[in-house]
Amino acid sequence: MATTSFTKKSLGTETIEPAVTPPPSTGNATFAKKPKLSSSKSKKREIPEGLWTKCPKCSTMVFDKELDENLKVCTHCQHHFPIGSRERIASLVEPQIFQELDAEMTSVDVLNFTGVASYTSKLQEYQKSTGLKDAVITGLCKIGEHRVGLGVMDFSFLGGSMGSVVGEKLARLIETTTEKGLPLIIVSTSGGARMYEGMFSLMQMAKTCAALAYHGKARLPYISVLTYPTMAGVMASYASVGDLIIAEPGAMIGFAGPRVIKDTTQAELPPGFQTSEFLLDHGLIDAIVPRKEMKERLVEYLNFMTNGSTREDLAPVNQALG
Ligand SMILES: [Zn+2]
Repeated sequence: MATTSFTKKSLGTETIEPAVTPPPSTGNATFAKKPKLSSSKSKKREIPEGLWTKCPKCSTMVFDKELDENLKVCTHCQHHFPIGSRERIASLVEPQIFQELDAEMTSVDVLNFTGVASYTSKLQEYQKSTGLKDAVITGLCKIGEHRVGLGVMDFSFLGGSMGSVVGEKLARLIETTTEKGLPLIIVSTSGGARMYEGMFSLMQMAKTCAALAYHGKARLPYISVLTYPTMAGVMASYASVGDLIIAEPGAMIGFAGPRVIKDTTQAELPPGFQTSEFLLDHGLIDAIVPRKEMKERLVEYLNFMTNGSTREDLAPVNQALG
C-alpha cells in the first residue's frame, strides 16, 4: 500500500510540474539533468519521421525529398526504388490528360477464402493503406503527341497480384484501345497470380492474352514495360507478349523464384539470373530504359511504331492519334 501511494504522489507531482521530479533531498544535480533530457527528447520529436532512406544497393542515406524529385531513383548509384502507380502515371503522361477507366471496380471474395486473415479483410486493409481499389490503374492518356491506353500496376497493393479485377481492368483497357485504334502500354510489377482467388486469378492470363491477340490482329502496337519485380502469372501472360518489351535497370523478372528453380533443376544458377541485364543479353527483352528516360523513350518508340510506318493499314491509327 505504501508503495502504491508513493507512486501516485510522484505521478501527481510530475503532472503538475513535469520539469521537476519528486524527492527534494536528491540534490540539484538531478534537477539539472532531467530538464536537459526532456528538452533533448522534444528536439528529437521535432524531426519528421522518414526523412532519409537507406539505399539497399549502395547503403547511402538518401534524402527523401531528393528521392521523390528523382522519381525514386538513388542519386548515387541509380538504384530504382519501387514507385507507386499514381506517381508513375504522373511521370509518364501529359499533365491533366489521364482519363481513368473502371476506377471503382473492386474484387469480391468469391471463394470465401479463409487463411490467417480473410480475403475481404485483406482487401479492406490494403484499400485503406494504399488508397487504391486494386493493383492496377488503367486509363486513356496522352504521352507526347500520342494518344495511348495505359495500364500501370502497383506492387504496394497485395504484391501487385493479379486477381479478377486486375485482369478485367486490363482486358477492358486492351479492348478499348482496339476499338479506338490506339497503341497500348502496360507497366507491370507483380508477384504473380492472386492466390486468394484461386483459379479465377489464373483465368486472367488467358483473358488478357486473348484481348491482346485482337489488339495485335488490328496491327496496333503494344509496349510492355517490366519493373521490379515482374514474376509468375503476370510474366507468363500479358507482360511477356509485347511487340516491344522493355525493362527498368536491375528489375527482377522471371516465372518461378530462383530458389524453386535451383531446387528443381539441382543446378547452380548463373550470376545476375532473372535481372533485366541478364535477360537483355539472352534476348528476352528488347531494351533497358532508366526511369528518368522512360517517357522520352516511349515517345520515340511510339513514333517509330506508328507514324514511322509506311504500311497503309496503320493509317487509321495515325488518324486516331491526331
Ligand atoms: Zn544507391
